[in-house]
Amino acid sequence: MDRSIPDDVFCRMVALRRDLHRHPELSWQEHDTMQRISTALTALGLEHRTGLAGTGIMADLDGRAPGPRIALRADTDALPIQEETGLPFASEVPGVMHACGHDGHTSMLVGAAELLLADPPPTPVRLIWQPAEEAGDGAKAMIEAGALDGVSLIFGGHVDRSYPPGELIVTDGAVNGSTDTFRITFTGQRGHAARPHSAVDAIVVASHFVTTVQAAISREVDPGQPAVVTVGQLRAGSAPNVIAGEAVLEGTFRTQHPDVRAHLASALPRIAEAVAQQHRAAATVQLQPGTPPLINEPGPTRLARRAALDIADASAVRPLATANLGGEDFAWYLEEIEGAYIRYGAQPPGKSFPAHSGGFDIHEDVLAVGARWLDRVARVAGDHLLAEGT
Ligand SMILES: [Zn+2]
Ligand SMILES: [Zn+2]
Repeated sequence: MDRSIPDDVFCRMVALRRDLHRHPELSWQEHDTMQRISTALTALGLEHRTGLAGTGIMADLDGRAPGPRIALRADTDALPIQEETGLPFASEVPGVMHACGHDGHTSMLVGAAELLLADPPPTPVRLIWQPAEEAGDGAKAMIEAGALDGVSLIFGGHVDRSYPPGELIVTDGAVNGSTDTFRITFTGQRGHAARPHSAVDAIVVASHFVTTVQAAISREVDPGQPAVVTVGQLRAGSAPNVIAGEAVLEGTFRTQHPDVRAHLASALPRIAEAVAQQHRAAATVQLQPGTPPLINEPGPTRLARRAALDIADASAVRPLATANLGGEDFAWYLEEIEGAYIRYGAQPPGKSFPAHSGGFDIHEDVLAVGARWLDRVARVAGDHLLAEGT
């Protein structure tokens, strides 16, 4: 395949990606990962800072002129999943795997650094290797550590096995959903299984809630707005012949619209309390805000698309085929400054497996596409800012 990237740059990206893949680290534990990135940057002669927010890295590249700075971001963490790919460079850490492709993101940003060093961009560029995306708070910590100081626009992307390598998925508007979670405790009255009238069965209450809460989606949310409530855990009871006095449910609600998000945040406690009252029980509801929805605004999305069209045929640049309610903590950066987030087609040969599963893999040609797009978008956005005079 013509990757339109120097062979040696591509080979170094593949080698780094495989090295990271062999040695995955969980959120906030990316110490070796940080060292491996640092070694690669040192080999390029690129000055950088390590230890930001603990395990983050930042490198500032000069542009041809001083001016507004463009940031490019990769994430570095892996997941608590046992790898089942059988790849020769499979994870050597039991129960930990790069099952979301962040090894790919990390090495394509190193590749982009190489391209940017070879031919300086119009304005300064900041490269950010961020920890703990999967934990949902790595981006926030990097922002607190100053990652966005002096930055005007930020761009990033994610591998996607639903699209072939070479395709660039640039979407206006919502790209990812919000990721709020909830914990609801229903308190009834423990009792003998044969005497329900002298008890309040928390399992019955919780069961009603699990089915009733779906009406919040089907009857209270505009059908044109993607939204989901999932109860992922339900714990109750101690014995077959004892009525449970307490049931604890944990779950998540996802949406792409701030109004729907706010509505669900008020609907969950309302429904929990109503169901509890109906059954003489009590409900305690705790909501934990997650990442906001990731929304691509029109201006930066245009720049992202222009960069994609500069490196790929028009037929290979397309919007997301379906709404996505997965979360992405890049959304925290877009709460602060403008930017855009795309997806890179990364379908591997043969049968492919979903992200966050033990069989997940990417087509390594995506490393070349990602590096070229990151390099290109820094140039397109830099030129745009200079023309705007901001
Ligand atoms: Zn993930
Ligand atoms: Zn991811």
